[in-house]
Amino acid sequence: MHPREWIEVRPHGVYCKVGDFYIDPMQPVERAVVTHGHADHARAGHGHVWATVETLAIMRARYGEDHAGTEHPLAYGEQANIGDVTLSLHPAGHILGSAQAWLEHAGTSIVFSGDYKRRPDPTCAPFEPVPCDVFVTEATFALPVFRHPPLEDEIARLLVSLEQFPERCHLIGVYALGKCQRMICALRAAGYQETIYLHGAMQRLCKLYESFGIALGPWEVVTSENAKTLAGKIVLCPPSALQDRWSRKLPDVLTAAASGWMRIRARARQKGVELPLVVSDHADWDELTHTLVDVGAPEVWVTHGRDDALVYYAQQHGFKAQALHLLGYEDDSE
Ligand SMILES: [Zn+2]
Ligand SMILES: [Zn+2]
Repeated sequence: MHPREWIEVRPHGVYCKVGDFYIDPMQPVERAVVTHGHADHARAGHGHVWATVETLAIMRARYGEDHAGTEHPLAYGEQANIGDVTLSLHPAGHILGSAQAWLEHAGTSIVFSGDYKRRPDPTCAPFEPVPCDVFVTEATFALPVFRHPPLEDEIARLLVSLEQFPERCHLIGVYALGKCQRMICALRAAGYQETIYLHGAMQRLCKLYESFGIALGPWEVVTSENAKTLAGKIVLCPPSALQDRWSRKLPDVLTAAASGWMRIRARARQKGVELPLVVSDHADWDELTHTLVDVGAPEVWVTHGRDDALVYYAQQHGFKAQALHLLGYEDDSE
């Protein structure tokens, strides 16, 4: 039976009829499979949640111990049965614990990638192509103009700026879950061993990453006491804190931001970003198109983002392809 017979798009999200569960639902539901911990995919209040151990830990950290009725933790590759469906989760390379969901029913299979990338990232397991009949992909950066530069180049630009402006506090807007920890690891890999200062909102998730064995090196939370002493230091904060009162206590701020959207100069300017760093946890155009080939599914469904371009590309290259037009998963700040 073709997956289109047992998967449907509903207002709350994608629904699996034969298993009676949703994938990354927008609203609390009785049964949910959650691909990763970002807020647009992981919501509080579900009856049952199937997710990786790491994603469940992230959900507890963000929403509290009682975020769901019952947790069903799965290791990568472990199988579970929900109704008439077999489920397993496979690394997506997006953030810690991020997973693609593989579903099989009556001899056909479908993979929901969730958000993913193909670049190396020491904070999570690398994306694993999983054979399937239908591959469901995101398309956040699915335009040929989106080609993310190597992360090392963006980190090098940041370190050069720090050398050129040794008195300026380099304040970088980064998403608190994933991007923050990946940036810290990349700075360490580039030889930056100084203390990195963090907005308080990042503390809990950094500790969680450390508890899963990801070494972040020395870091401290910015306080009203140490804020004045941070000239020439690197401070990470959520994108929303770049312009708010919180940042005014820091000395001579040089505003930076790390996001795939920093490729668009107008967006950087509009956000008052002096040093835009193009760093994304989503696949760029080349990663998306290569992934269609690597996975090799004859049929591709595109969930959200610039779906037209990717659907067109897939059709031109011999795949059956369609857009699902899912709303609510726009990764605005990544
Ligand atoms: Zn995400
Ligand atoms: Zn997303």
